[in-house]
Amino acid sequence: MRVLTVIGNRPQFIKAAAVSSRLRRLGEEITVHTGQHYDRELSQVFFDELELPPPDHMLGVGGGTNTAQTARMLAALEPLLAETRPDAVLVYGDTNSTLAGALAAVQAGVPVAHVEAGMRSFDRAMPEEVNRVVTDHLSTLLLVPSQTAAENLARESVAGRVELVGDVMVDVAQLLQPGARARVETLAPYGVEPGGYLLATAHRAGNVDDPVRLAQLVELLLALPAPTVFPLHPRTRSRLETSGLLAALEGAAHLRLAPPLGYLDFTALLCNAQAVVTDSGGVQKEAYLAAVPCVTMRPSTEWVETVDAGWNVLVDLDADAALAALERTPPAERPQLYGDGQAGQRVVDALATLA
Ligand code: UDP
Repeated sequence: MRVLTVIGNRPQFIKAAAVSSRLRRLGEEITVHTGQHYDRELSQVFFDELELPPPDHMLGVGGGTNTAQTARMLAALEPLLAETRPDAVLVYGDTNSTLAGALAAVQAGVPVAHVEAGMRSFDRAMPEEVNRVVTDHLSTLLLVPSQTAAENLARESVAGRVELVGDVMVDVAQLLQPGARARVETLAPYGVEPGGYLLATAHRAGNVDDPVRLAQLVELLLALPAPTVFPLHPRTRSRLETSGLLAALEGAAHLRLAPPLGYLDFTALLCNAQAVVTDSGGVQKEAYLAAVPCVTMRPSTEWVETVDAGWNVLVDLDADAALAALERTPPAERPQLYGDGQAGQRVVDALATLA
């Protein structure tokens, strides 16, 4: 079995870590890094920390608009597929790399396996939502993390085969969260103690590309009631600089700005936080797994089970709602929502049926 894996951004490197080594034990994997994320802090550090094999092909097509980026990826993937002739193309999540990998594969007559299929926020203004929907309708094998995702796909009558495998990020979190929780020395540079601070992240286009929304985001962060470690995504830093809002955050005594962190440092900060304030998809899930309450700065989420379980509150960019959510005590119950940590193996088993 020869699988061509297309990855390109931070969460995809983390997801691939649950699958890649298992896949390589069973067959051949050719990894293509599109270059969607190219900074060391968003790319190489994950390959090092998660012991991912170095990519076989670097497309180097990051930057630019979504359309231009996807088009460059498609153009670069076409000859690569013709040259490598894989049995299947494996894509993860909902990025431009996901969509480009799936579309290039279908056009080359190669079946597509989509990990994290079926996730929906039902918000078509999110570029990620469009990528998810299109990729799912192009896929032969739809590997879903939850029953909700399977139901979403049933409603859309997708053509491919749907398999509930659980969430591959759970595999990685289960493996690394216990050790990361013990790395309390990671907290020292930020002057915070376990359980005595918040961890914030923000990078969604809908929050940082629109200046009005960005100003609301800054207001919310300035209103937070506890020391807050805020690792800045490069996109967010750039938008804050352009809009002149960075200084306000830098000047706030409770905010501790940081560069984007590696997985282990970030996970140490996540596991020891009193709560997380984020617009990330992956971080909502990881907070739940770490038993850390989450406040999500979005009007909707794909990870609806975390909200239903009472551990995640959607506040959009309403600072008062965020403060109220942070006052809440999470429920005693925290059921297993996204599988048992063996999703990576199930992905590989399902892939083997395509060869
Ligand atoms: N993450 C990280 N360092 C950071 C911020 C996040 O390692 O400074 C990890 C986090 O643990 C999660 C993933 O990056 O696994 C989430 O990625 P991101 O928020 O960029 O993307 P999304 O999940 O929203 O697509």
